[in-house]
Amino acid sequence: MSCTVKFRNGVAVPALGMGTWNMGDNAASRSEELESLRAGIELGLRVIDTAEMYGNGRSEHVVGEAISGIRDKVFLVTKVLPSNASRKGVLQACRNSLARLKTDYVDLYLLHWCGSVPLAETFEAFEHLREDGLIRNWGVSNFDVEDMKELDSTPGGDQCLVNQILYSLEHRGVEFDLLGEDRKRDVVTMAYSPIGQGGGLLRNEALAAIARRHKTSLGGATPAQIALAWVLRQPNLIAIPKASSVRHLRENVAAQEIRLSDEDLARLDHAFAPPTRAVPLEMI
Ligand code: NDP
Repeated sequence: MSCTVKFRNGVAVPALGMGTWNMGDNAASRSEELESLRAGIELGLRVIDTAEMYGNGRSEHVVGEAISGIRDKVFLVTKVLPSNASRKGVLQACRNSLARLKTDYVDLYLLHWCGSVPLAETFEAFEHLREDGLIRNWGVSNFDVEDMKELDSTPGGDQCLVNQILYSLEHRGVEFDLLGEDRKRDVVTMAYSPIGQGGGLLRNEALAAIARRHKTSLGGATPAQIALAWVLRQPNLIAIPKASSVRHLRENVAAQEIRLSDEDLARLDHAFAPPTRAVPLEMI
C-alpha cells in the first residue's frame, strides 16, 4: 500500500520519491539510471529530486532525458546553490536548470542550504520565478530549528512548502524537534539518504534480523527495505532513496508494503537510539 503526502496548497504526491545524486557521473551506468527512473514513474512514483550541484548539472541532464515525453507524470524537484541565491543568481540558475531538465517549469525549487545571501532576497526571487511560471512552489533544504524559526520573521517565509533534510535510522536527531517544527508550520519534510547511502547501515545485524521476519511481493525483505519502511512510517514525510538499478528501484517500491510491528520498532530503537536531547542537524 502506498501513502500520499499532501502539501499545504492541496497538491498530493506519493510519499516515496526518487533521488538522483551521482546519476550521470558514469557514462556506462547512464542507460540503467534512465531505465530505473522510468520504471519508478511506471510504478506510480512521481517525485524526482535533483540539484544543479549534482555532477555540475549532469544529474539534471539524466532526469531531463528520463522525463522526456512524460513530464506531466512527474513532480520535479531541483535546488539552487546558496552561492547562486541572489536575486539575479536565482533567475539565471533556474533558467540553466530548466534547460538541462528540458522543461519549462519545476514543481518545487529548493534553496540547497543556508548561505550568505539574506533569505528575504532569495525568497523574493523565488516568488518572481513563481509569478513568471518557471516554478510552481519553493522550499528549503538543510534548515535546522533556528533556520525554520527565521522563516517566521522573513517576508515570504510562510510560502515555504518543504524542508529537505538528512533522516535515517543512523541520523534520528531531527525526531527530537525539527520534524515537529516542520509539521507546526505545515511544511512537508523530505528525508534524504534514507537508506544510509547504501553503506554500513545495510550491514547492521538488528536490521537484518527484522528483514528476516518480513516479506514483500518480491520475496523476503532486505535490510534496505526495512530501513526505508522505517523512514516512511512518519506522517507528513517524503523519502527520496536513490536507486540506479531497476532491481533496487523495485525493491524500494515494494518496501511500501512493509508494516513494522511495535516489536520491530522497539528493536530498532534499541539498535539506533532515539534522541533524548536537541542535537544540531547533520548534513551530508
Ligand atoms: P540513499 O540513502 O538513497 O542511498 C543510495 C545508495 O543506496 C546507492 O548506493 C544505491 O545503490 C543504494 N540502494 C538504493 N536502493 C537500494 C536497495 N533497495 N537495496 C540496497 N541498496 C540500495 O542516499 P543518497 O545520498 O543518494 O540520498 C538520496 C537522495 O537524496 C539523493 O540521491 C539526492 O537526490 C538527495 N540528497 C539531498 C541532499 C541535500 O543536501 N538536500 C544531500 C544528499 C542527498 P544503486 O544506486 O546502485 O541502486
